[in-house]
Amino acid sequence: MEPYLADRDRTRSVLERHGFFIKKGYGQNFLVDPAVPRGILEAARIGQEDTVFEIGPGIGTLTQYLGSRARRVIALELDRKLAPLLAETLAPWPNIQLIWGDVLKQDLPALFRELAIEGPVKVAANLPYYITTPILMRLFEHQTLFSGITVMVQKEVGERMAAGPGSKDYGALSLSVQYYADPRLAFEVPPAAFIPQPRVSSAVVSLTERSRPAPELRDRAWTFSLIRAAFMQRRKMLSNALTAGAPGILKREQVAAALSEMGLDPAIRGERLSLEQFAELSNKLWAETHPAPGDRCE
Ligand code: SAM
Repeated sequence: MEPYLADRDRTRSVLERHGFFIKKGYGQNFLVDPAVPRGILEAARIGQEDTVFEIGPGIGTLTQYLGSRARRVIALELDRKLAPLLAETLAPWPNIQLIWGDVLKQDLPALFRELAIEGPVKVAANLPYYITTPILMRLFEHQTLFSGITVMVQKEVGERMAAGPGSKDYGALSLSVQYYADPRLAFEVPPAAFIPQPRVSSAVVSLTERSRPAPELRDRAWTFSLIRAAFMQRRKMLSNALTAGAPGILKREQVAAALSEMGLDPAIRGERLSLEQFAELSNKLWAETHPAPGDRCE
């Protein structure tokens, strides 16, 4: 059976027939333009042998396309009120398995074991925008389970994910995403592609395994706390931003000296540093602020 739901009238009719009220609080915006699910299939390079994990199937629009192309689809949805709709719209695809739950609470490795999923899985989803970053961080936490992540996000968020040093969109989100993956903006999607129309434009982003290994970090949490501090006051010199962001721990001169040792201008702003440079700087500052017991002067 061909996917049929990415259509304004059919979507309205399914919603009305089931008396379903759309919940804005769950980020429910349903696709009604068939070009978008087709574009997601291409961007995610979904093939006949793939197992796909979809977060938030909604009424099953993208799910129908995934089910038509992939070997197996696991779709995880929070809103149980969608059960009767999904029972109808996904019935023609026996290769789609619906799981009820909250993606932020689900133990994904346990779920995949329970479902006897073999080999890495591709993620394809039109994400609920209110929890985009926590979902991505959750997926990255379990990176080994996935061989690619293709998601629709708010356009502005997609641009921040893909931005490089010196650009206005570059920030903590760019660095945390790029530590785990190589992001690529696949295509933009206008508000008119959804019911109800969101106020913002959207973009499909594909995240693939980094082509170069991620830099080694002495302490990942420490590095990312410095990155957040650097961009909290992005117009400030990095040495001032880090001193203000980690009060009492770092001294301005210490940061400036570490930057000079790295061959960088001590007056540089954080927005000019690459991920590798943030890694090197934070590793140096970590070693200075966390001396080994034997290093301590009595
Ligand atoms: N995939 C559908 C489409 O493209 O038309 C709907 C996407 S809609 C933007 C996001 C979906 O995520 C909704 O169905 C919503 O109920 C679901 N959702 C929201 N929060 C969730 C969570 N924490 N875990 C799983 N699904 C969630």
